[in-house]
Amino acid sequence: ARVRVMELDEQPSVTFEQVGGLKEEIEEVREAVEYPLTKPEIYERVGVEPPKGILLYGPPGTGKTLIAKAVARQSQARFIRMSGSELVHKYIGEGAQLVRELFILARERAPAIVFIDEIDAIGSMRTNDGTSGSAEVQRTLMQLLAEMDGFGNRGNIRIMAATNRIDMLDPALLRPGRFDRIIEVPLPDAGARLEILKIHTAKMSLAGSVDLPSLAELAGDTTGAELQAICREAGMMAIRRDADAVEREDFLAAIKKVKRETAAPDSRMY
Ligand code: ATP
Repeated sequence: ARVRVMELDEQPSVTFEQVGGLKEEIEEVREAVEYPLTKPEIYERVGVEPPKGILLYGPPGTGKTLIAKAVARQSQARFIRMSGSELVHKYIGEGAQLVRELFILARERAPAIVFIDEIDAIGSMRTNDGTSGSAEVQRTLMQLLAEMDGFGNRGNIRIMAATNRIDMLDPALLRPGRFDRIIEVPLPDAGARLEILKIHTAKMSLAGSVDLPSLAELAGDTTGAELQAICREAGMMAIRRDADAVEREDFLAAIKKVKRETAAPDSRMY
């Protein structure tokens, strides 16, 4: 059962080329995560400590996990992922112990990048409805803080986390020596949307009618995950038409469909 909440990837297959846009964000992550692992002398020479923990925040589906996997691959580090929400919702009573095991695993498999997804599930401020901040969740959070405090900044284990709700995070997590490097992973702009569309259509046969730059404009506010869904959906439309190539019309229909689903999540239930 623990395999699901803690996922070990010896060598993630994601490369930075598979991440559209986010060039500055990737550079910041490399400085904070990769260089301390692969070129520690850079930090030593200048005499500064690398950040302890790196927090990525932004809307769901914008590439936070993708970046974390790619930086693990680039650093030739193991990627160990734990889902904060699964930890809290599926492993009630085991949270603190699982956090302990997570760091034992990281030490055994170092160099390693520990990635805690949806960290807000463990590290939210107390809420009035009593859903978070329960004694159990508090214990899990305390364990995480203790584990982080027990590490040097320069070791061969780097800690990353992701959240969509940075406003909810317990300030204890953001203090120096904890998640002290915060990087926003925003929605892609039209240029980044084009790069993402190129990545996800690379293996598709596109008809001459398909003009990706204009589709990137038309798509409007969409996440990388939605753009990936749009490409897949456009391909499905072409298959249904029994066509050899995907046409512009397929993409237009796919954009409509995916954006409708996002706008009204309830409609998917029927
Ligand atoms: P969540 O907060 O929901 O975990 P996330 O920000 O970690 O979201 P990812 O899991 O990285 O999002 O993205 C989901 C999928 O969407 C990726 O596997 C990828 O296929 C696609 N995707 C998202 N962002 C990008 C991007 N910038 N470039 C290319 N593909 C992307």
